[in-house]
Amino acid sequence: MKETRVSVAGGGLAGVEAAYCLAQSGVPVNLFEMRPVKSTPAHRTSLLGELVCSNSLKGTDPLTAHGLLKKELARLGSIVLKTAQETRVPAGKALAVDRDAFGQALTDIVQSHPLIEIHRKEFTCIEPGIPTIIATGPLTSDKLTSFLADMTGTDRLSFYDAISPIIDAESVDMNHAFFGSRWEIESTDYLNCPLDKDRYYAFVEELIKSDRVNPRSFEDTRFFDACLPVEVIALRGRDSLRFGPMRPVGFTDPLTGSRPYALLQLRRENLKGNAYNLVGFQTRLTYTEQKRIFCMIPALAGAEYLRFGSIHRNTFFDSPKVLNKDLSIKGFPLVFLAGQVTGVEGYMESAAMGIVAALAALAKMSGRVFSPPGPDTATGALISYITDEHTTKFQPMNINFGIMEPLDAPKKLRQQARLEKESLSFETWLKSFDVSS
Ligand SMILES: Cc1cc2nc3c(=O)[nH]c(=O)nc-3n(C[C@H](O)[C@H](O)[C@H](O)COP(=O)(O)OP(=O)(O)OC[C@H]3O[C@@H](n4cnc5c(N)ncnc54)[C@H](O)[C@@H]3O)c2cc1C
Repeated sequence: MKETRVSVAGGGLAGVEAAYCLAQSGVPVNLFEMRPVKSTPAHRTSLLGELVCSNSLKGTDPLTAHGLLKKELARLGSIVLKTAQETRVPAGKALAVDRDAFGQALTDIVQSHPLIEIHRKEFTCIEPGIPTIIATGPLTSDKLTSFLADMTGTDRLSFYDAISPIIDAESVDMNHAFFGSRWEIESTDYLNCPLDKDRYYAFVEELIKSDRVNPRSFEDTRFFDACLPVEVIALRGRDSLRFGPMRPVGFTDPLTGSRPYALLQLRRENLKGNAYNLVGFQTRLTYTEQKRIFCMIPALAGAEYLRFGSIHRNTFFDSPKVLNKDLSIKGFPLVFLAGQVTGVEGYMESAAMGIVAALAALAKMSGRVFSPPGPDTATGALISYITDEHTTKFQPMNINFGIMEPLDAPKKLRQQARLEKESLSFETWLKSFDVSS
């Protein structure tokens, strides 16, 4: 087994996890990353594991679905999780990172691994007989997408994702902003920008009639519900935003002593705290419109943009038709999909699928049968979801309790019962792979 080199295509979160997991198991890896020779519409650097949008990897509490997934990733030796913990910035209960420090640390780890050889070139086709993991993400290059679509006999699926703007911290008008997390006035993790009723509705009106970037001819405009552009939320109803990303519940504006009518939260982008992300403000407004409309929020009247919001294609496969339970492509036992191309959605979900694909490849190379963890675990629930043959209209999915096996326990005890059941199930599965410490 040690003589075989595995090809991993894509040096994002899933590709890095897959390469590292294989290398740590003694298997040499050729890792293909096309940046900086060829970039994607969203990446800015040549760093491996670059985060293209939010710097938050979501919550860590094991009583939540995101926390459960992180608990499992820690047991699997996730290098993405470990690096995130080492480069984290304050963000309340969420695990948020300094994006550049995170990417640089991951790059250094992978680059210095003696069993990983990095090739900075576009991966365009699969060599027969070479175990291969495809982890090229939502912005997989066109050449490879066409190759894979031909190979699997399916059409690729695309929809838009939108990036939130980032502004210079010093340009926020602190006379109209205050620190605090929801229900926690003492916290300094978030900077909050309140709006009164008149300003809020004027803002919504402008969003509704705003100029947007037109989709390109080969792209259609279906959105993932958890990542809706702010102007699309506004179009769904004049109050949708203040029940969504501009929800004021749990805040008291120190200036007025009462709850604001609506509120935008700003989250730190880096440890220095000199840049802020507009939370939940993914957008496809033109740059000019972003400047014109977002300055209607009093705290952002003079905001300077370090990065504007934007929109991009997302590519994923119809996994229930294409994939086996070990993430190998039907009819191609040595070719595995990993990360967002499998139809999971989110940073940690993608990382998890990177490790699973590597473990499945390791099993296949040593003639063992790979069984995924059970659907009562977070990782297993994601695999069940993307490989459920009964699915007719497949859509990407984050980890959530809705896709985990239902629990027969009273509501009050359900979270704890779920955690206990998951722990038992996951640990039993781990032992079967001998990857537990
Ligand atoms: C615009 C946008 C915003 C997003 N916002 C969020 C968010 O806020 N939160 C969240 O959790 N998720 C977000 N996502 C989803 C996010 O991309 C995934 O969660 C995660 O990055 C997927 O990891 P991955 O490893 O599968 O892909 P990626 O991290 O994208 O890595 C894929 C890598 O493959 C490389 N590549 C592509 N084609 C080739 C090729 N042919 N040969 C060699 N290399 C290639 C790319 O350069 C890239 O480095 C967003 C996605 C997009 C597109």
